[in-house]
Amino acid sequence: MKKDFLIAAAVLLAVGCGSQKSSDETATADFKWQIDRFDDIKVLRYQVPDFDSLSLKQKELVYYLSQAALCGRDILYDQKFKLNLPIRKTLEAIYVSYNGDKSDPRFLEFEKYLKKVWFANGIHHHYSNDKFVPGFDVAYFDSLVNATPSLKDSGELIAQIKPAIFDPELYKSTTDQRAGIDMVVSSANNYYDGVTQVEAEAFYASLTDTTDPEPVMIGLNSRLVKRDGVIKEEVWRVGGVYSPAIEKIVYWLEKAAGVAENEKQKAVIESLVSYYKSGDLKEFDRYSILWLEDGDSQVDFVNGFIESYGDPLGYKGAWEANVNFKNIEATKRTEILSANAQWFEDNSPIDTIYKKEKVKGVSAKVITVAQLGGDCYPATPIGINLPNSDWIRRDHGSKSVTIQNITYAYNEVAEGNGFMEEFTLREEDREAARKFGALAGDLHTDMHECLGHGSGKLAPGVRGDELKNYGSTLEEARADLFALYHLGDAKLVELGIVPESGVVKAGYYNAIFNGLMGQLTRIEPGKDLAEAHMRDRQLIAKWCYEKGREQNVIELVKENGKTYVVINDYAKLRGLFGELLKEVQRIKSEGDFEACRDLIEGYGVKVDRELHKEVLERFAKLDIAPYSGFVNPVFTPVIENGKIVDVTISYPDNYVEQMLDYSKNYSFL
Ligand code: ZN
Repeated sequence: MKKDFLIAAAVLLAVGCGSQKSSDETATADFKWQIDRFDDIKVLRYQVPDFDSLSLKQKELVYYLSQAALCGRDILYDQKFKLNLPIRKTLEAIYVSYNGDKSDPRFLEFEKYLKKVWFANGIHHHYSNDKFVPGFDVAYFDSLVNATPSLKDSGELIAQIKPAIFDPELYKSTTDQRAGIDMVVSSANNYYDGVTQVEAEAFYASLTDTTDPEPVMIGLNSRLVKRDGVIKEEVWRVGGVYSPAIEKIVYWLEKAAGVAENEKQKAVIESLVSYYKSGDLKEFDRYSILWLEDGDSQVDFVNGFIESYGDPLGYKGAWEANVNFKNIEATKRTEILSANAQWFEDNSPIDTIYKKEKVKGVSAKVITVAQLGGDCYPATPIGINLPNSDWIRRDHGSKSVTIQNITYAYNEVAEGNGFMEEFTLREEDREAARKFGALAGDLHTDMHECLGHGSGKLAPGVRGDELKNYGSTLEEARADLFALYHLGDAKLVELGIVPESGVVKAGYYNAIFNGLMGQLTRIEPGKDLAEAHMRDRQLIAKWCYEKGREQNVIELVKENGKTYVVINDYAKLRGLFGELLKEVQRIKSEGDFEACRDLIEGYGVKVDRELHKEVLERFAKLDIAPYSGFVNPVFTPVIENGKIVDVTISYPDNYVEQMLDYSKNYSFL
C-alpha cells in the first residue's frame, strides 16, 4: 500500500516530455535506454543526472550505500522461494560453461528462462507472483547438466530442483490469497515453514498487545517455523538467518557512516547497523524515526526488510534497497505542495467532519535514484512512501518521494513506440500528452504520495481495519482521486507549479484511458483484476464513465472497429472525481465494509471481455513489452595514495553481464 507501483501509468503515458527535458538534454542525446527484451519484459537503463555535482564525500557515501544495496540480493531470492538460489546457481553454472551452438532454439529458450529468473529474483513472475515454466523440456535440461563439469556431483540437488522448475502444479504462486484456502500452506514463499495459516495467525495474535500505543511490526524480520512441534521465529540478523549477507551489508553501512553528511545521518546509519546486529524490532522503529527526521541530507537510502506484499498474511518484509539523492530543483515543486497541504485538505470535496484540522508530517521530495537492490531491482516503483509502521506514521508522519529519473527513462522509451497513435483518437489529446504528459504524471505521483495518502481522518471509534481485503484498493483510490481532483485545481497554476490547463487534460485523459483500456494490456485473457492499484484505477474510470453517461462526459467512440476513449467535458469529469472522492472518504472514515465491497466489486474487478480482447489484439501488433526493469549504473572509486579522490559513474549496457557479475561478486548465501 505504501510503495506505489505506478509503473503502468508511466509506461502508458507515451509522451515526449516537452519543456521538462531541458536540464538533461545534452546528457541524453545518444543514450541507449532499452538494452534487452525477452518475453513480456524489457530491460532499460536509467541515468543519474547531476551525480558529478555531488561533493566527493557525498559521492563516496553513494558508493558505499550502493555496495550495501547489492549485498542483499540473495536474501530476496531465498525469501521468495526456498529453491530459488540453488536453481539460479545451477542455471548460471550451465550458462557460463556452455560451449554448444548458441543459436539452438532450445538453448535460446534456456537463456530466456534464466533471464526471466534473474528479472523476477526467482521462478515466480515479479508482478503476478505465478510460477512460469521453461520453454525447453527435462531431457534438454538433463543434457545441459551432464555437459556442465561443475555440476558433476550435484545429482541430489538437481533431482530436488527439477520438479520445482518443470512441474506446473507445484509451487504455483509465491503469494496465494484466494479466499477459503490455507494461504500460508498454499504459498510457495519461504516466510513460513511447517506452520499453517491458523497456527501463524494464532502465534501473532498472542504477540499482539492491543494496549501498546507504539507496537513494533511483529514478524517483519523473521521466518516462522515449526521445529519438533514448537512454533518459533528465526530472525534475519547478524548471527541469525542470512548472516553472511547481512554482515556484508553492515560492513558497507559502517563505511557509509564514516562519510555521513552530518551527525543526524550518521545516527540513522548507525541505528540501522545496530538493528541488523540485534534483530530487535524496537531498534528498527528507532531507526525509522531517525530516518524520517533526517530531511537535511541530500543523499538518502532505503535498506532493509520493508514491504510485506509477498506475505499473504502481511507480516514479513521483503529485503530491498534504494540509494538516492535529492533533486533540488524538482523538489521545489513538492515543497510548494507540502507547504500548501492544509489548503488542499481544506478545499477537498469531502465531508468537513472527515477533514484533518491539522495536516502534519507531509515531507515530500523528488529524488534521483543512484542504485537499486533487492525487491527494487530490476523492477522498481516510481514513488515510495515510508515508513510503514502505523504508529510512526501517526505520530511522526512519513517521507514521500517521487523518483524522477526512473519516470524520465520510461517516458524516453515510450516515445515513438506507436502506442499513442494506436490508442488515442484525437490529435489534440496526443498533443496534450506529448507536451504535458510527463509533468502530469509526476504531479499525479507527487500529490498521490504527499497529499493523498495523508489526507482525511477516521470517525471516532473506527480502527481502520474494517475494510479488510478491500482496504488497500480503497486507500489507493482515495489517494488517486485526491490527486486527480486537485490536478484540476486553479491553485496549481496560481502556485506556479502548472503552466496552463493542458496539464489537466493530459492527466485526466491518461487516468481514464488507462483505467478503462490501457492497463488491460497487462491482464491475461479471461482473468479479472486482482492487484490493488489496477482495481483502483478501473474503479475510478468506470465509475466516472457510468455516472457521466447521461451527460456524455466520457465517450467510448468506435471507429473502424476500434474503441477509443474521448473525454468531452473536463470540468464535469473533475466534478465526478470530487463526488467519488467524497464517497470513498466516507467509506474509509466510517469503515463501511459493505459499501466498500459493493463499490470495488461493482466497478474495479470485472473485466469487459470484448473490450479486453480488442485491446490485447491491438497491443500485440505493436510488440511492446508490458513490464520494464533496470540495470544499475556502476560506481568506481578512484584511489590515489590509498585515498579515494573521486568516484566515477558508468552505465553498463549488458543485462546478462550485470546479472552474472552480481552473482559472482555479491552472492553470499
Ligand atoms: Zn498509493
